[in-house]
Amino acid sequence: SRASARAILRRPTASWRGEHIKLLINIQRVADLEHADAQYADGVGLMRTEFLLAGQSDLPDEETQFQAYDAVLRWAEQRPVTIRTFDAGGDKPVPGFTFDGEANPFLGVRGLRLCLARPEIFAVQLRALARAAVRGNLKVMFPMVTSADELEAGRKLFADIVKRLQAEGVAAMLPELGIMVEVPAAALAIGTFKAAFFSIGSNDLAQYVLACDRSNGALAPLLDPLHPAVLELIARTAEHGRRAGIGVSLCGDMASDPRCIPALLNCGLRELSVNASTLAQIKQTIDRLSGGGGLG
Ligand code: PEP
Ligand code: MG
Repeated sequence: SRASARAILRRPTASWRGEHIKLLINIQRVADLEHADAQYADGVGLMRTEFLLAGQSDLPDEETQFQAYDAVLRWAEQRPVTIRTFDAGGDKPVPGFTFDGEANPFLGVRGLRLCLARPEIFAVQLRALARAAVRGNLKVMFPMVTSADELEAGRKLFADIVKRLQAEGVAAMLPELGIMVEVPAAALAIGTFKAAFFSIGSNDLAQYVLACDRSNGALAPLLDPLHPAVLELIARTAEHGRRAGIGVSLCGDMASDPRCIPALLNCGLRELSVNASTLAQIKQTIDRLSGGGGLG
């Protein structure tokens, strides 16, 4: 019932085998924070920023972006908020930004690749994020990272922008910088990345590991995030984080699916980012695995 779901939500986040499990939420736009359950999350684990690019004739300016990021940080108070830089391209074309005519757009110039190819557009977002960083507990992550050089190229652009803003007398700082682990090469070479944190994008990771286009319905039965090859890469990433003392979370859709929770905990994950509408259900799932039985 809704009443017992409420009671579960209000408790501190679940623990499993004596370890605290952090549950954060994914948001697609600022208004998602109005979901009644959002307030019970440990923070925002993934803010997708592509909504800023949709349906506009012009790309969003710095002030528009700053206002959106600042609104989420204000909502979160001191809880962490992880904002992902533009993940355009692939199945998300944006006029004036993405490349046209790619034969294999999912293997094309998307995510961080695209932002590095269009530094003048990326710079506007990085300026807005650098200004937002002084206003709350902001972390920034890059999507679709393949090699450590891309992370370093992004970090350099960001650091230069922070210096320039500070020289202009604008309050700004470099936030903690992490990456999405969603390209198999990144998961396999995880030790090469000097990232402050990792967030596993299991939607794309499964697509690339299993060679199944995530937008092709005919392949849905084969696109199984519980395939042992996908779980192997998740477990390795979690293990690396544990040994190196680097936080690892998972923000793909499987974190919002109760059937996937036992496997994710067994892979060593202790932080998940879920859709707000599934927060109570995922808390209850973890409680039940702990033998608590929940309140339902
Ligand atoms: C993912 O790939 O798992 C992810 C969280 O990002 P998106 O679904 O936006 O690609
Ligand atoms: Mg992705």
